[in-house]
Amino acid sequence: MTHEQASELLAAFALHALDRDEEQAVSAHMQSCAQCQDELASLREVTEQLGSAVGQVSPPPRLREAVLAGIRSRPDVITLRRGWVVAAAAAVLLLVLAALGVSLSRQLTALSARLAAQERVLALLAAPSSRSVPLTGSVTAAVRFVYDPDRGRGALVVSDLRDPGRESVYQLWLIAGAQPESAGVFRPLPGQPIVLPVTADFSRYQAVAISVERAPSGALQPTTTPVLLGKL
Ligand SMILES: [Zn+2]
Repeated sequence: MTHEQASELLAAFALHALDRDEEQAVSAHMQSCAQCQDELASLREVTEQLGSAVGQVSPPPRLREAVLAGIRSRPDVITLRRGWVVAAAAAVLLLVLAALGVSLSRQLTALSARLAAQERVLALLAAPSSRSVPLTGSVTAAVRFVYDPDRGRGALVVSDLRDPGRESVYQLWLIAGAQPESAGVFRPLPGQPIVLPVTADFSRYQAVAISVERAPSGALQPTTTPVLLGKL
């Protein structure tokens, strides 16, 4: 393969978009061509920068294949090799935009959920009949249970609680007599309050408790002594 031919295929090479024969031919040429090595290095720099601008979210692998298949199936692009450079750049842009879209929509979903949870707590606190009890126990924590007995709506608000370890979650229990009932599991997020909504007839319960249970879904009944307890 001549330098001219290799140079035209470099962008596609950087994207791993060549078939095996072409890839080997470009590789072989590059062994002895400093100019192509330099060009490839700068192409890789650009694709890496684009990648890191998008964060940790990777585009769906099927999309990459679809884009590349689309390019391959166009005979005008294949016969006009120079078209590769433009097509490859367009493919990179498409991947970046797709990944950005996925990342943004995930962030938006997470943000909406947090907002809804915070609004729920605000509404609870605004209700004249609502109560707020601190949970205390064997660990240092800033954890409150806010609830409105009249409307049967409540929420656990966790603003400071240490990580329970990778294999564990915290599990919230509503306690009626000697019978704890699970009200959900959660993991604390560093520097970010957590709101765990709870809907129940609170007149049935005397206390709320939190125990450390096995990740990801906790237990049917507490298997460890509760680390935090609050009287309703
Ligand atoms: Zn070359």
